[in-house]
Order: sequence, then structure tokens, then C-alpha cells
Amino acid sequence: MYIGIDIGAGSIKAGLVDSENMVLARAVAPTRAESTLDASLSELYGCVDELLGKAGATVHGLGVGVPGAVDHLQGIVYNPPNMPAWKNVPLASLLQDHTGIETRIDNDANCAALGEGHFGAGRGCDNFIVLTLGTGVGAGIVLNRRIHHGTRGFAGEFGHITIDMNGPRCNCGNSGCIEAYIGIHHLMRDALPLLASDADGLLNRRAIEDPDSLEPRDISLAAARGDVTCTAVLRRAGSLLGVAIASAANLLDIVTFIVGGGISAAGAVLFDGIRDSTAHRVLSVHRENLRILPAKLGNDAGILGAATLLR
Ligand SMILES: [Zn+2]
Repeated sequence: MYIGIDIGAGSIKAGLVDSENMVLARAVAPTRAESTLDASLSELYGCVDELLGKAGATVHGLGVGVPGAVDHLQGIVYNPPNMPAWKNVPLASLLQDHTGIETRIDNDANCAALGEGHFGAGRGCDNFIVLTLGTGVGAGIVLNRRIHHGTRGFAGEFGHITIDMNGPRCNCGNSGCIEAYIGIHHLMRDALPLLASDADGLLNRRAIEDPDSLEPRDISLAAARGDVTCTAVLRRAGSLLGVAIASAANLLDIVTFIVGGGISAAGAVLFDGIRDSTAHRVLSVHRENLRILPAKLGNDAGILGAATLLR
């Protein structure tokens, strides 16, 4: 058995995973990121102890996914966004000391990519990229069934692929990154004026009277009900993402892209946009083999992927 842990800024999700990759038991706790590091660690240890108590067999390893930059070789978490108390935390050795079980850590997007790749939409595939659409656009790159970490562990910053050198400003300081179009806040910024000016649209009144209450999920739901403007917003988001995907496919000769998180729940509208745009732009040698797939595992991808770090 293995324990896989997915640490986010809001919550810690842990699972006891058997050799068949089934999650046998789960533990959840708040990360308490706004508090001290000790407060977070005590929640984390609580989850691990709870699962060890339920294991009933030897636990061979502990894997942890953490947001932001991680030294996966030394097991150090640098300074995750939205977790101010976490600075250069030697998480792997802390957990190892607490449990006596070998522990490895990696970036959370990388763990999700391993989980989704090996047990979800990428099953049976050796080379693929898993994209997570949220506030940012994250990615895990899997080459020959292993995470590609890059020279210093920072690989996979898909969101900062430039699709227009004169495009909108991105949080990274660059202009025209794909994230500056389809990151949640940027997507909503572009969508609101369109929703507010479409008098027949399902979200028209809210866009005018209470714009802050609108989320990408509302746009997905309205598109599913046939709203023309919302459909166009998602279709455009898909097309723009396809521009970046085509560049990655050409660069790496990777033809399988798995898309999850946030607006990916929009389904066909978004995916048709991605597929058309990618197929249009990718080199002809890749066109027939391209696969743009929705993620399958949801939250479990991180747990299952983390649990494979020791294998
Ligand atoms: Zn950027």
C-alpha cells in the first residue's frame, strides 16, 4: 500500500492506495495556510496518522503533491502561492521522520498528470501533457511515462506560452500569454462586457447587476442551455488554447493532451474549439494522431499520482 497526498492552499486530501490503484480510505483536513507552518503540519500529520491506522498492512511509501516550485530530488517545498507560512520546507524529511516511511514530493500539477496519465484519460500512453485550467493554466509533461522536470524542476509552465506578442498583460509580467486569455479572471474580464451587452442572453441581468457573482461555471451552464454568447466565449477560449497546444505538439512531438479543471466541464463546446484550432495549426504529420481528451479522475488524480512517486 501507498499513501498519496494532495496539498492545496485550501485543503489537504489524502488517500490510502493499494497495489491495484484503488483508493481504500480517505482523509481530508484544512491546510490552514493562513496560519503557521506548524498548524498546517499538524493537520497533515493528522491525515497521515488516520490513514496509517486504517492500513492494516505495510505502507511502502508516501507521496505528496504541493503547489508551486518544488525541489523533488531534495524533497523541499520552496514557497507555494497562497501559502505564505511555507518557505523552504523540507517536507519529505519531516514526513519521513514523523512516519518512518520513505517519502517523495512533487509539484501538484505533476502529480495530477501522473494520476490522470496512468489511471485516467492517458492510460496506456507514454507521452502526454495534462493541462489544468484554473486561475492559472498549469501542466504536467510526461515523457516516456516519467514527469519531465526540466533543468531546475520548473518545467510545465504551459500558461506562459505566448500566443500574441501584443496581447493582454499576464501576471508573470509578459504580454499575450495563453493564461492572460483563459485564466479564470482574464476569461471573466473579457466575457463580462459581452454578456452585459447581449440583451437576450441568459446571464445578461447578472452581468449588469451583479457581475462579481459570475463564474466560468455559470458560462458553461448557460452554454449548455444554448446561450449564444456563452457558447462563443467558450469556443473562443478553446480556439486560443488550441494555438498554444499546437505549438507544444510541434515542439515536443506529443499528440495526446488531457484537459481538466474549471471550464473543461463545459464539454463539447470548449473541446470542439480546442480540437479545430489545434488541428488547423499543428504540422500535418501530427494531424491524424492528435488526441485532445477530457480529464477523467477529477480530484483523485492528485492522490493517485502522488501515490506513484515511490514506485
Ligand atoms: Zn505569463
